[in-house]
Amino acid sequence: MRSHLLNETTAELYRRSVTEGVERVAAKLASTQRPHTGISVDELAPVVNGIDLDRPLEDPAAVLDELEEVYLRDAVYFHHPRYLGHLNCPVVIPAVLGEAVLSAVNSSLDTWDQSIGGTLIERRLIDWTAARIGLGPDADGIFTSGGSQSNFHSLLLARDEACRKAMQAAERPLAKSEVLPRLRIFTSEASHFSVKKSAAMLGMGYEAVIAVPVDRNRRMDTSVLALELEECASEGLIPMAVVATAGTTDFGSIDPLPEIARLAAEHGTWMHVDAAYGCGLLVSPTRRHLLNGIEHADSVTVDYHKSFFQPVSSSAMLVRNRDTLKHATYHADYLNPRRMAEERIPNQVDKSIQTTRRFDALKLWMTLRTMGADGIGSLFDEVVDLAAAGWDIIDADPRYEVVVRPQISTLVFRYVPADDVRPDLVDEANLHARKALFASGEAVVAGTKVDGRQYLKFTLLNPQTTTADIAAVLDLLASHAEQYLGESLVHAS
Ligand SMILES: *Cc1c(COP(=O)(O)O)cnc(C)c1O
Repeated sequence: MRSHLLNETTAELYRRSVTEGVERVAAKLASTQRPHTGISVDELAPVVNGIDLDRPLEDPAAVLDELEEVYLRDAVYFHHPRYLGHLNCPVVIPAVLGEAVLSAVNSSLDTWDQSIGGTLIERRLIDWTAARIGLGPDADGIFTSGGSQSNFHSLLLARDEACRKAMQAAERPLAKSEVLPRLRIFTSEASHFSVKKSAAMLGMGYEAVIAVPVDRNRRMDTSVLALELEECASEGLIPMAVVATAGTTDFGSIDPLPEIARLAAEHGTWMHVDAAYGCGLLVSPTRRHLLNGIEHADSVTVDYHKSFFQPVSSSAMLVRNRDTLKHATYHADYLNPRRMAEERIPNQVDKSIQTTRRFDALKLWMTLRTMGADGIGSLFDEVVDLAAAGWDIIDADPRYEVVVRPQISTLVFRYVPADDVRPDLVDEANLHARKALFASGEAVVAGTKVDGRQYLKFTLLNPQTTTADIAAVLDLLASHAEQYLGESLVHAS
């Protein structure tokens, strides 16, 4: 069994083994005709469950053959131009190369003595991102597993800062447990659900989150935010944080960041910007201005695995003031004793809510060193341009109605039949169209609800997708919806 260990004696096996795996994936990528095969859970589950995990195949080639059956054949391929579903991007090759390197070397970025250069590379990328945002000289941050973790971590710091300040200002000694129920988080009703989940996990409950309505363009209505903040103060509650979204998951809308920053400052409130989706604009050669105001944030979430064309996971949270990271610091004698901090040994675990942690930063490093920031940004620009063209197509199509002109790269729309049809049936037709399209494997689109009604959604992150793809997918969706309505009307009569 030792022959399977990656070490000085097995370098050749490693090379052959990984090369064979890469060959299989390369062949797959080169021959994939559709984003997926349309297989159902009922078809695939028995294949996966039928495998006896206590009987290894031993031969790596046989394992890869089996992998074809259980995974590769039916996987959803995000690189396919007709994958228009969720916020999954096609990935760039330098990042995939980075992934191969980081898992083979297997550094863990918790302490300096487990990572060395890895720690320094991660720190450079955090500084680079913070500078792109404009967070100032005291900024810092850490790579995380994703936007949800970045939001959670940021709100944890915001919570502990709010508690610290409230306890300091109090006339009598206050316990943290007395402060917690008074904290409120303000975010738009179009923000990501991880804001609410974070509030619950931070001991404040879903109720602590005040959903601020959005305007027609699905951006936070700051006149309501102003009123809500006033009301919060007048009720003796504490505005712990305002969470602005720079690229809402559904609409790609960007909240009015300068106005939110002004209100947050006026009320002494932490401003968090969730730029999980919109962070690609940080490197856009033409659209950086869409994020103006982000430089006022106390903390920012970026998901490189959404708009920097990085493989999952690759995300970070950044803070304006590095001191606030101390709320997640714990000095363990065996790992990162306080003495090390005094000796200025850079232990990233001091800043993270994880301990053992992947060297995800390497992927972004390889990408920047190969393509440069403008290279990534111009790819992102291409999908933003595509979305604008897609809007024109859908808007001109009498079969569809489209919600908002995109600021980034999502299009939310619904099929509307020419004849008068009951609204619930229209909802069902849209739901059906999405499901039937998925089952056909010809394209993947997403769905969402707007004002209680069922909508369809294109999330465009692939520069290879063309307006012809968009038009073709619209035709497919319409024919599924028409077929469904035709059948329902026949059944009804
Ligand atoms: C995707 C997304 C998240 C969550 O990020 P994960 O990486 O999926 O955890 C948070 N906020 C917004 C606005 C998002 O689009």
